[in-house]
Amino acid sequence: MQIENYIRDIQGFPKEGILFKDITPLLNDPIARTECLKILLESLNGQKIDKVVGAESRGFFFGMLLAQELNAGFIPVRKPKKLPYEIISASYELEYGSDSLEMHTDAIQKGDRVLIHDDVLATGGTARAVCELVEKLGGEIVQCNFLMELSFLNGREKIKNHPIFAALTY
Ligand code: 5GP
Repeated sequence: MQIENYIRDIQGFPKEGILFKDITPLLNDPIARTECLKILLESLNGQKIDKVVGAESRGFFFGMLLAQELNAGFIPVRKPKKLPYEIISASYELEYGSDSLEMHTDAIQKGDRVLIHDDVLATGGTARAVCELVEKLGGEIVQCNFLMELSFLNGREKIKNHPIFAALTY
């Protein structure tokens, strides 16, 4: 079972010049999903996790599976104006301009051991903003993990203070 066989390259999505890594074949196959989950879990070496934080929206899929296996809480980090309760926010740079991400203020208690998950580590802006949110609430980041790291974009540099794991590297 090679999970890379379940990642599909889409040339020119969402715009010309971009090679998009499509994870929907992986989501659509229970055996590949189980294998991927196992790889992510093994990377934690049995470390205790209180909360898994998943970044909207593709971070929700495996984020929730991880939380379930780890018997941990799951926290969605969302785009602005999606969360109904009191929020904190962190902004990050886009190619043109900036955007922000939000999290509920009661999602993490000081000292919680947190696993951050997203599908792809690209430039690292998203992961950096999620780390900021977790740290604002006093969470301790145990690992940032990803299905894939696009290493040529050097996103790792933006979250270099934390352990990073990716099931696949391109
Ligand atoms: P970054 O902030 O690291 O530049 O981008 C990471 C975010 O963009 C992730 O939330 C991820 O879902 C999305 N992303 C960027 N490139 C890709 C890609 O090729 N495939 C997928 N599935 N998501 C991507």
